[in-house]
Amino acid sequence: MQLKASWPRFLILAAALVAACDSRPPVTRHQFHAFGTIVTLSFYGADASQSAAALAELRAVYDEVGLDWYPWADGELRSINEAFAVSECTSVQPPLAGLIELSALHEQLSGGRFNAGLGRLSEIWGLQPVPVDRASLPDAAVIGELIDSAPSASALRRDGASWCSDNPHIMIDPGGIAKGVVLTISAGVLGQHGIESGIINIGGDLLVVGTVNGREASIGIRSPGSDTPIAGLDVRPGEAVVTSGNYERFVEIDGRRYTHIFDPRTGYPVDHTVSVTVVDSDPALADAAATALLVGGPGEFEAVAASMGLTYALLIDAQGDARLTPAMAERLHWVDSSGIVEQQ
Ligand code: AMP
Ligand code: MG
Repeated sequence: MQLKASWPRFLILAAALVAACDSRPPVTRHQFHAFGTIVTLSFYGADASQSAAALAELRAVYDEVGLDWYPWADGELRSINEAFAVSECTSVQPPLAGLIELSALHEQLSGGRFNAGLGRLSEIWGLQPVPVDRASLPDAAVIGELIDSAPSASALRRDGASWCSDNPHIMIDPGGIAKGVVLTISAGVLGQHGIESGIINIGGDLLVVGTVNGREASIGIRSPGSDTPIAGLDVRPGEAVVTSGNYERFVEIDGRRYTHIFDPRTGYPVDHTVSVTVVDSDPALADAAATALLVGGPGEFEAVAASMGLTYALLIDAQGDARLTPAMAERLHWVDSSGIVEQQ
């Protein structure tokens, strides 16, 4: 099903706008930098010692993940990728082994649109380790050689803890799914500390734990550079809202912007889609699917949503037209130009 929104040309990030309530339990909010973005943790009804203990544990987990799961940090994934680059086998331990397996699963579900083996492309395009603008496009032959070798997480061979690659172009980059997995881990940490209600927001990708002040959390989906929501959504306990946007990270080449999300079939950055938001009770699926739907674009929206088993997805293409799954169309409240939320 395709629905056209009369507006937004620009899109999207999710921001938590928690509905006001008269008899509110205390809220504790913590904000800090992690994963190159801002993390906001909101705990409802937790006492000070619960909050402090959960915060300390989450910060330690985020530091570890930032080091060991980011290919350009001096951690576990870097050494693993170095072994793959010279076709050597290497030992991969949990939880990183699980993350690579999950990436391979979502690669299959998405028909290869989600591909966590493309770290080399981010380097070729100058997006990693830090975006560097340049005067000319990367060499098409270099991109072609990489793509022809079909690098991907599913191409790795595994024998117990030993993982091997025959393709030196494979560089595991779980950036398109890691935040989703971290959201799940974070919910577990809250549970261990007896915190039953909260919102974990990693740069706009969020997970709602329990109800917020006894109700579903109202989440605003807003346009970048503005706090004005373009749409609203009530998020149920345990649901994640994850957005992939082509504006989140980019380089300028000869005056034109190129995004950080690549079509694994071509090796070129996506230009047909501005953003995708997925709501699901599996944050890793929501994360991988948002990336895959962005790669597939408007033409493949329904097919990818179906193959990944999605119920709630929204895509805004480069023309500002929206596509929604039928269930998302029922749930989303568009905000009209006067800022009034229309109940659908
Ligand atoms: P996200 O914001 O979740 O869409 O993740 C974007 C990040 O995923 C990029 O910065 C890359 O590190 C990585 N990436 C880029 N293209 C793809 C792709 N087609 N499949 C999986 N990961 C990708
Ligand atoms: Mg993603």
